[in-house]
Amino acid sequence: MAKDRDAIVIGAGVIGSAVAYFLQEAGLSVCLIDRGAVAAGTTSASAGHTSVQGRVPGPALDLALANVRLLGELKRALPDDFEYVQSGGLILAEDETEYRLLRQFAAKQAAHAPVEFWEAEDVRRAEPHLNPRRILGAAYCALDGYANPMRLAMSLAHAGRVRGAEVLTHTEVSTSPPRPRETRQGDGHP
Ligand SMILES: Cc1cc2nc3c(=O)[nH]c(=O)nc-3n(C[C@H](O)[C@H](O)[C@H](O)COP(=O)(O)OP(=O)(O)OC[C@H]3O[C@@H](n4cnc5c(N)ncnc54)[C@H](O)[C@@H]3O)c2cc1C
Repeated sequence: MAKDRDAIVIGAGVIGSAVAYFLQEAGLSVCLIDRGAVAAGTTSASAGHTSVQGRVPGPALDLALANVRLLGELKRALPDDFEYVQSGGLILAEDETEYRLLRQFAAKQAAHAPVEFWEAEDVRRAEPHLNPRRILGAAYCALDGYANPMRLAMSLAHAGRVRGAEVLTHTEVSTSPPRPRETRQGDGHP
């Protein structure tokens, strides 16, 4: 029963499924609840990009770096494949302004993450199908990639369940406030 669990996690998207998985792994008994199916919310709309570059140095970049480290660990730990590929990623500069800004930004990021700036010739060599007249340069990060967010959520929920978590789907958690306690004459309440 959900009420006997140490923790109840409401929402079985990629976030709730991960929270439930890690709580269960930490030794708590967990119930994961969703009003629909696992991964049927925003998670089902995600493009699944796992980008490091493009993040401003500081908390956003630190989180992106932690994210790719965690995805690598989960790829080894979870029994189900969630199609995580660290393919490397390019951000393209298509005019002089983009070229200048991207080059500056890549130089800032390079102090914290493996981000390089490629000139047009290097981009064309790596991606010969790009239009050579449109691309002036690109920032490249080897850590960028993509995953299947629905498969990741399902994989986490499944692994949590295997470890003993209860997963209740098609179960709405009511958000209405609790009803005030009924009072009777003589019980000390006005
Ligand atoms: C078009 C698009 C593209 C995106 N692309 C990317 C991308 O490339 N890379 C990236 O990192 N992020 C991307 N995102 C963002 C990413 O999808 C979200 O950050 C992520 O899916 C949020 O997950 P979540 O678990 O918090 O939310 P959700 O997946 O929405 O999960 C919340 C769950 O809670 C359940 N729920 C809510 N209330 C209740 C209730 N009262 N009772 C029971 N269940 C309840 C819902 O049914 C739902 O399943 C994209 C988002 C969109 C919309």
